[in-house]
Amino acid sequence: MIEFEQSESAAGTVIGMERIHVSVRTKPLSQDDAKTSPWRISGNSIAIPNLTKFEFDQIFSDNCSTAEVYEARTKEIVEAAVRGFNGTVFAYGQTNSGKTYTMRGSEAEPGVIPLSIHDFQKASEKPFKFNPIDEKNVWIHFFMHTYRGNVLFHKLESTYVLKDVDREFLLRMSYMEIYNEEINDLLAPEHRKLQIHENLERGIYVAGLREEIVASPEQVLNLMEFGESHRHIGETNMNLYSSRSHTIFRMIIESKDRSEDEESGSSCDAVRVSVLNLVDLAGSERAAKTGAEGVRLKEGSHINKSLMTLGTVIKKLSEGAESQGGHVPYRDSKLTRILQPSLGGNAKTAIICNITLAQIHTDETKSSLQFASRALRVTNCAQVNEVSSDPFPLFILTDAALLKRQKKEIEDLRAKLMGSHSEHLEKEILSLRNTLLQTELERERIALELEEEKKAQAEWEKRVKEQAKKIENLSSMVLFSNRDESREHIKR
Ligand code: ADP
Ligand code: MG
Repeated sequence: MIEFEQSESAAGTVIGMERIHVSVRTKPLSQDDAKTSPWRISGNSIAIPNLTKFEFDQIFSDNCSTAEVYEARTKEIVEAAVRGFNGTVFAYGQTNSGKTYTMRGSEAEPGVIPLSIHDFQKASEKPFKFNPIDEKNVWIHFFMHTYRGNVLFHKLESTYVLKDVDREFLLRMSYMEIYNEEINDLLAPEHRKLQIHENLERGIYVAGLREEIVASPEQVLNLMEFGESHRHIGETNMNLYSSRSHTIFRMIIESKDRSEDEESGSSCDAVRVSVLNLVDLAGSERAAKTGAEGVRLKEGSHINKSLMTLGTVIKKLSEGAESQGGHVPYRDSKLTRILQPSLGGNAKTAIICNITLAQIHTDETKSSLQFASRALRVTNCAQVNEVSSDPFPLFILTDAALLKRQKKEIEDLRAKLMGSHSEHLEKEILSLRNTLLQTELERERIALELEEEKKAQAEWEKRVKEQAKKIENLSSMVLFSNRDESREHIKR
């Protein structure tokens, strides 16, 4: 039975409880490996006969295309992201199991990221409609029943259900990696070791991370390529490097109802803000197996730290720790901290577990499947994120939406350029938006740096004072002992 608090916790939002979707993708085997493989797949279960058996939402055998993997669940998550739901898709598995093949892919077989980018374009171009008969929106029914007669009912009805909405979209992207528990900005390679911050307005965020407003799939792909090409500065062993780093590709989607612009004095110009994370994790093999030493050990153990924490977080969530008020150690690693809202939080989440069925990797494959099957038991609670300036907001009043922050500047520019060619106008607006965004992000980064410097300065001043005090104490001790000595001397 649906719990009432779940709706109440975010008044005015459409809420749905759903499990993390977990699928498994197997990599093609050589003929020899295929002959000796101990694994058997039947439907959605995979087993070593008489030894171990796992069941998942879906298992893709080696002849399945990435497009099929994408269609199974990620496509829905992308479409939901366009409607205002947060979404996250992870590729998990040991090095060489096909994570990057699945997420990034190649020109011949595009991965989940390029497929999503193209669907974004399509989904944000067509007006969309929430259909009250749709089974997936059963929560809307529940919510409407609960609040029938109340103002919430009217709001929901007009916002989500009955209107065919024409919306204005603003998409931006960021691309980061976590290597050695350090967050590096792949879109601004000079920004390294970024810090995670949290505040009421933005929630958990990576401070100073570059965001680019994007207007076409090509632009996104070019930026990704730029990020990739700057990833391994000074690295001699690229394979080792990429197997030890996590990359998070992120799209931030904002949208608002176009018709509300036309209703002058409209008090309800709610903006939906959602985030889609597409994550290519580091190899899940144990550090012991990599024979790590020295710096390598540090890297290995850090990756272990992030992946181990991810494992622990998933385990705790699967045991219901969060709903029972227990501790979930999100803060123990950068990865879990950044993705906290996606793990057992406000997001639609899918895990694609990449495995190889070769006999030599049986142990690793088994441990990947164990991780994946724990994830099956994690439930998320996704809701549409809406930001409003309503004087009686149903949603939390915040300044988080860029569409809102830039509203005045964009209106001014529109007025100035009125009458000029529309293509030109849109280009100008986009460019102004990006300039404003970059200035804002740069200001934020400098403010944070200043804050850090101030802290360091205060710390330094404190230490100088302490040292001065120590010196003072020492000198007075010396002075006293000298005085005592000379008194003794006179006495004698
Ligand atoms: P990972 O990112 O997990 O370390 P990769 O995605 O780099 O692994 O894959 C390792 C190798 O296997 C690559 O050469 C890749 O092209 C190949 N590969 C992985 N999955 C498939 C697949 N489904 N079909 C064909 N080749 C694959
Ligand atoms: Mg890889």
